[in-house]
Parts: sequence; structure tokens; C-alpha cells
Amino acid sequence: AKRDGKNGFQYFDSITRKEVEVASTIRRDLRLALEKGQFFLCYQPLVDIRTGKVTSMEALLRWQHPKKGLISPIHFIPIAEETRQIISIGEWVLRAACRQMKEWLNMGYSGFNVSVNVSVHQLQQPDFAKVVFDILNEIELEPRYLELEITETILIEAMETVVRNLYRLKEVGVKIIIDDFGTENSSFKYLQKFTVDGLKIDRSFVSEIKVEVNKAIVDAIIFLGHRMKLGVTAEGVETKEQLDCLIESGCDKVQGYYFSKPLPPDEAIRMVQKESNY
Ligand code: C2E
Ligand code: CA
Ligand code: CA
Ligand code: CA
Repeated sequence: AKRDGKNGFQYFDSITRKEVEVASTIRRDLRLALEKGQFFLCYQPLVDIRTGKVTSMEALLRWQHPKKGLISPIHFIPIAEETRQIISIGEWVLRAACRQMKEWLNMGYSGFNVSVNVSVHQLQQPDFAKVVFDILNEIELEPRYLELEITETILIEAMETVVRNLYRLKEVGVKIIIDDFGTENSSFKYLQKFTVDGLKIDRSFVSEIKVEVNKAIVDAIIFLGHRMKLGVTAEGVETKEQLDCLIESGCDKVQGYYFSKPLPPDEAIRMVQKESNY
């Protein structure tokens, strides 16, 4: 359909239809993706704002679809959550990321840990902490090398199970970070119920940090984090200006295209070797 005024709705319609079609393809093919080995991980470094050294490697999931090509996690994670497949996919991610970290350690790299994104659906499983322990034992990776990033969206009903899992993980030294901090109104509830190790400021505040209100929010999150003795990371840093702004605000760690895009492990690890990444 054409994109003119009169056919505006038609245009919108066809986009929607396309999207629905893609979504149903995803729904259909996601079931086989795991067993067919179509998933892989890319890694994006987190950099210490003072030293310029890599402190962490965030594992980001990628799906190589045989016909549709590379599919972004923003398109298939919500579907995987809806169908509960995120439980098995998430376990695959944890194992693959821990294996990669172990391999890096075996190669002689150190001074950083691996970050894995965990869905609330995983945390709501009563045995989630045990699943993580089993993976760490199997791979012989010390828990302190693992960091979990949790998006703050939370279903209050299962809060007890979530908190119990987080507590057991933290007890052995796994670090817990709240991802996309400031985007959900449950932020403070989370902090009230559980002591995390760090906050990650959402990209939406960082990318528009030049706008006064965003700078104010960033400053407030950093103040809150430091007041609670937590490390604060800013994601989505793309420019020198944004970096300078974050340095001025006293942010601890930064991540974004300014430093590196998510890369295959062999390329991502090169940043660890560098004395500084500025
Ligand atoms: P996230 O955890 O907030 O990850 C940050 C996203 O921003 C990543 O997108 C990353 O590639 C992108 N990004 C990083 N730096 C920049 C930048 O400077 N500019 C811009 N424009 N973007 C940047 P990606 O890899 O597409 O992942 C999207 C989301 O999918 C993630 O957001 C996370 O919520 C989810 N996700 C990815 N992997 C997993 C996973 O293994 N498990 C779960 N549960 N969710 C995952
Ligand atoms: Ca994340
Ligand atoms: Ca994030
Ligand atoms: Ca985000």
C-alpha cells in the first residue's frame, strides 16, 4: 500500500499484517530453535569509567533463523516469555555464557565477570537458584564470576519466590544488577525488598542526557545508587559528550556503541587485553 494521506490506514494495516506474520513465524519456529542450535551469544563489554578497563562482558542472545536471518531478541524474547520457553532458552544462555567465561579464564584472561540477562519468569521458578548452582558446579566456575541482570518489571504475586532465589544466589557470591533502572515504577519496591549489587541506567535516559530532565534523572539514580553503596552503570553510551556528562555525574561504569557493539566472543575479548578503552 502507498504511504500517502488517504492510504495512511492501509499503510499502517499492511505493516501490522507483516508484523503479525513475523510474530507467528517466530512463535512456530522458536520451539525448534534451541534443539537446532540456532542461538548464539554476542558479548558487549562494560567499561570502568575511571580506569577504562573492562569489568564485565554482557551476553546478548542472537537467533540465526534459517530463512528470516538474524532475529533480534526484542522480537522473540517476549514471545518466549509468553510461551514459557524462556525457561529453557534462559538456561541455555546461562550455561553458554558460563562456559565462555570459563574458557576465557582458562586462556588467562581475568579481572572481569560475565553478565547474563535473566527474565523474571525464570526467577519465579522455585528451583531457579539450584539451576544456576548446578550449571556453575558442572562448569567449575566460581559464582563471583557471574552477574545477573534483571529487568525491574515484576509480578508482585511471585515476589517471595523471586526474592528467595535472589537471596540464595547472592549468598554464594553471584552479583545481582537491576537492568533498565527507572523505566518501571516498581524500581523502589525492588530496592526495598532486596539488596542488589548494582543499578543499570536505561539507555533512554542516557541517549537524551543533553535534555535537562534526563540529566536530572541520571543524577538522581547515581545519587540513590551511591547512597546505597551500589555500583551504577549507564548503558547505551554512543558519544563522547554523553560519556563526559556521565563522568561529571559520577557514574561508575559505562557500556555502549561508543566503546563497542555486541561482538562474537573472540572479537569482544580484545577489549579486555587493552590497558584502557578510551
Ligand atoms: P538490554 O539488556 O537492555 O540490552 C541492551 C540492548 O541495547 C542490546 O540490544 C544492545 O545491543 C543495545 N545497545 C547496547 N549499546 C547500545 C548503544 O550504544 N546504542 C544503541 N542504540 N543500542 C545499544 P539487544 O542485544 O538487541 O537486546 C535487546 C534486549 O533483549 C536486551 O536489552 C534484553 O532485555 C533482551 N535480551 C537479550 N539477550 C537476552 C537473554 O539472553 N535473556 C533475556 N531474558 N533477555 C535478553
Ligand atoms: Ca541487560
Ligand atoms: Ca539494559
Ligand atoms: Ca534497555
